[in-house]
Amino acid sequence: MFDSLQNRLGDVFDRLKKRGALKEADVTAALREVRVALLEADVALPVVKDFIDKVRERAVGQEVIKSVSPGQQVIKIVHDNLVEMLGTEAGTINLNAVPPVPILMVGLQGGGKTTSTAKLAKRLKEKDRKKVLMASLDIYRPAAREQLRVLGEQIEVATLPIAENETPVSIAKRAMAAGKLQGYDVVMLDTAGRLSIDESMMDEVIQVRDAVNPVETILVADAMTGQDAVTTARNFHERVGLTGIVLTRMDGDARGGAALSMRAVTGVPIKGVGVGERADALEDFHPERVAGRILGMGDVVSLVEKAAETIEIEEAERIAKKMQKGAFDLEDMLSQLRQVKKMGGLGGVMSMLPGIGKLQKQMANANVDENVIKKQEAIILSMTKTERKNVKLMNASRRRRIAAGSGTSVQEVNKLLKQHQDMTRVMKQMGKMGGMKGLGALLG
Ligand code: GDP
Repeated sequence: MFDSLQNRLGDVFDRLKKRGALKEADVTAALREVRVALLEADVALPVVKDFIDKVRERAVGQEVIKSVSPGQQVIKIVHDNLVEMLGTEAGTINLNAVPPVPILMVGLQGGGKTTSTAKLAKRLKEKDRKKVLMASLDIYRPAAREQLRVLGEQIEVATLPIAENETPVSIAKRAMAAGKLQGYDVVMLDTAGRLSIDESMMDEVIQVRDAVNPVETILVADAMTGQDAVTTARNFHERVGLTGIVLTRMDGDARGGAALSMRAVTGVPIKGVGVGERADALEDFHPERVAGRILGMGDVVSLVEKAAETIEIEEAERIAKKMQKGAFDLEDMLSQLRQVKKMGGLGGVMSMLPGIGKLQKQMANANVDENVIKKQEAIILSMTKTERKNVKLMNASRRRRIAAGSGTSVQEVNKLLKQHQDMTRVMKQMGKMGGMKGLGALLG
């Protein structure tokens, strides 16, 4: 049904030469295809527009990588930006409050609110060992209250006994009182939905919110809602204030565009993904998976990984060559530091050089600490491009400026420059000794 983005991009990039920078016209042509892919994946139009603009800005001018096609490279950029936009923070439920912690579940009718309430309750009970009480505030549909009660029995989580002639606010207050009295850790309030956004629903949810001060207000929304997702999410977020989203029906063939739309509009994290009707069909949110799904390519993840690997290897080769010539500048050092940071310790180019293990350990030991690397990165980023290319410029006043700009001290700047000097010297020697010969084979 969906054409893969890679196929589409193939034609666009056939014209582009394999070397050079990604040009505006080529990127624009590719992004036209990305735009169609996003719309087909049900991402809302305003979100698509913003996203495309952002990616264009980042992609134009990027160096074209030798061994991946420009199309693949654009996919990688698109993919990385999608992941970033979908959010990488852990979507855990916040329970930082005096118990019982109130959690408000909101959303349109049929979105999966009641089911998700039970799913979250089960998870809180089993994983977090919390004592959970659930209460339905749906005074309009007795069936909805009954549904929650039955689900509660199935997962062995208590539900507030149903009483007649109560308002949603009074049920919520009764639930909190019962929660306090009976020593519950969490009280989950399943509010009544409507078929579409309407004022009385919003007013009701706001009244309940003001009565209980929830720590979490979670929007439950159907992944199939696509274009409507933005309206729903925006309305709830503006009126009620959301802290998280649970996206349901991701077991279906929804392309996941709703996830991106809702996340973009509210900025709140996705705290769970519904993948079926059963109470245990709740998964953590994996931005990479959803990004792959949105791009509509089963193999997008492996493709992106391949592109990323290639990009890293080419970068490593490039730096290794410069090292050999003794032309290793601070720009290269920055790239090297980032590599080390990404690999979480020793690594990067240095580890690819044969016969250098021990030396590398000595030099890189200072770098292993995340914070040290961050500082070093900040120092280099506070230099001008010219300074990075030409260390000799680094006089006392420049060093002072760089220290101030990076929030470090002149000593720390000196230390970094010394380290760079050491690396350059060693590299030069290695080059002379022909110690880099094995590199090509190693990088294969
Ligand atoms: P509510 O009106 O928002 O409370 O929606 P319900 O919780 O009653 O869910 C409506 C229907 O969707 C029910 O038949 C659920 O079993 C089903 N449902 C909820 N979440 C999921 C999900 O993640 N996947 C699938 N396939 N069905 C779901």
